[in-house]
This record gives sequence, C-alpha cells and structure tokens, in this order.
Amino acid sequence: MADTGGEVVENGNVDPPQSALIFIGTGCSSAVPNALCLIQPSDPPCHVCSQSLSIPPDQNPNYRCNTSLLIDYCGDEGNHKYILIDVGKTFREQVLRWFTFHKIPQVDSIILTHEHADAVLGLDDIRIVQPFSPTNDIDPTPIYLTEYAMESIAVKFPYLVQKKVKLGQEIRRVAQLEWKIIESDISKSFVASGLKFIPLPVMHGEDYVCLGFLFGERSRIAYISDISRFLPSTEHLSLLFVYKYNSVRLFKDSSEFVDISKYGGGQLDLLILDTLYKKGSHNTHFCFPQTLDAVKRLSPKRALLIGMTHEFDHHKDNEYLKEWSRREGIPVQLAYDGLRISTDL
Ligand SMILES: [Zn+2]
Ligand SMILES: [Zn+2]
Repeated sequence: MADTGGEVVENGNVDPPQSALIFIGTGCSSAVPNALCLIQPSDPPCHVCSQSLSIPPDQNPNYRCNTSLLIDYCGDEGNHKYILIDVGKTFREQVLRWFTFHKIPQVDSIILTHEHADAVLGLDDIRIVQPFSPTNDIDPTPIYLTEYAMESIAVKFPYLVQKKVKLGQEIRRVAQLEWKIIESDISKSFVASGLKFIPLPVMHGEDYVCLGFLFGERSRIAYISDISRFLPSTEHLSLLFVYKYNSVRLFKDSSEFVDISKYGGGQLDLLILDTLYKKGSHNTHFCFPQTLDAVKRLSPKRALLIGMTHEFDHHKDNEYLKEWSRREGIPVQLAYDGLRISTDL
C-alpha cells in the first residue's frame, strides 16, 4: 500500500471517479492480535499475534479490527456518499487509520447488521466524524437497523436515542443519529444515501437472525458478516438475481439450487462472507469449511472472506486459497484491513 501524492494506489486502482468498497475491519469480535496471545504467550508463541509486536499495523494484514465495511458510493452525478456498515468496538482506531489513508471525510449513513458488541459498541464515537456543535445542533446521521437492534441499542445507549433533554438536564454533546427501522425481509429493500440495499436475513446461531445485504445495480455485491446458516429464502434470492442477470430459467425449488449455481457461476460479482476459525464448525459463525462450501454453492465471480480470528495467517492462507481458487474456478481471498476495491455500483 502506498500513498503517492494524493492518489491512493492499491490493487492497481488510481483514484478512479467511481465507487469503492473499503474494508476498514476484517476481524472477529475480540479482534486480532488476540490480547491473550500477547499477555500470556504460549510456547512457541502465536505466530500471527506476535507479529503485531514488530510489524506496524498498516503493514500487517494479520492486524484485524472488528468487521466493518465503508462503501464509497459515487452516484450518477459524480458526488460521493459514504455508507458505513457496522460500528464496532474498534471504530475510532479504524477512523484514525483508514479514513485518513483513504481520504474519507465523513459518514453519510450507517447500516447495522445486528446489535452485537462488535457491530455497535463504537456508536458513541460516531460524534468524532460529525460536525462539532456543543448544542448538538447538527443534521443527524441516518442509521438503518431492525426493530430488535433498536430495542437493544436503546438499552445500551439511551442517550443516543432520547431526543429531548429533561428539565434541569445539561446539554452534553453526543452523536446525533436518525434511527430508521428496516425489516429482516428480502422483499423490503431500503435506500441509504441513494444506494439500494436488500436485507439478506441469515442465522447467526440458531436463535438469532442477523442481516447481510445485497447492493449494487451494475455490480451485485452480497455482504454477509455474521452467519452460521443460510435461510433457503436468502440463498434463493441471491440465485434469483443470477437468473435475472443472466436470463437463465427460473428455479422451481431448493433442490435445484446447487446444480444451477454451479452451472450458472457468478451470479454475484462479489460475495463478502464470514469465516471465523480455520477448522471445524462453530455454533454462531461459519468456519473455513462451511464458508468455502457456501462459496462453491453460490458461485460468485469473486469472494472475499472477513471476520477472521488469529487462526488465519494472511499470506499463508491466501496461498492455500489461490490453489483452491484455481481448482474450483472461483477467486477467493482473505480480505484485510485497509483493502480498497474499486467497483461500479
Ligand atoms: Zn494469537
Ligand atoms: Zn454477532
């Protein structure tokens, strides 16, 4: 990565006047390095975590903040809007590191996948990217979330939700947010900063529905950060888009999904998908085997993985994925914090 006098050069892209996806976080809830690996080092020490003691974070793809995506959306008029998906525990650090590097001046709207700590606990710090007003006299930033997430956040951050100051209460500067309720329903799309999003409800543990999102008209992108199981309707929707896109035939039932997605190949231009641990399975997240199975089943044109723990070693595992990609015909790589991808939304 290099900053060459105003032009961010990365992935071969030179400041194009188009939309981009900026991965400002690609790690699990406790982030990477895992603190325990540093304060109680094992023998031998954890290779991935101990790197963080000698390699600066901006040169270390194994340094991962909470998973979060910043969409730099360039509308037809050429003006840029900045849409943030999730605001985790490490939000401030991500702003200092990546908003500066990628020259992101503000956040125009926020979308929440769910209300777990690693997706919402940075909400207090939204004020650091808002204009300064000691009397809170600024336009609130729209934030899209489910009713369930809203109820939880009203308990976690009552002062961000209450609009009026009570009698005798001092005004204190807090983030100004305009709460917008969305439904966990693939038929209920919504528009944030001019870009249309389709919710992709997925199971995140068998007792919990989390939202992924499908967006982009010219490039269709699915972002699914927290998933343990696809709902048939969600997978069906993704495939239906391929069908519409490639004018293939309609699917009759779920038994046709696997064959047709393999045959159709690439209904999504980009699938961004959760992967927590390297081996085995987990009750609330996909691990590497389930993630790669899902990538094969959905057959996007390209996939990038997010949400990794310290079990993943960026360069080593991307070498393995290169081999896997050649074999399966689907390019898949681990994303990393700071990765910017130009795209045509
Ligand atoms: Zn470690
Ligand atoms: Zn979660």
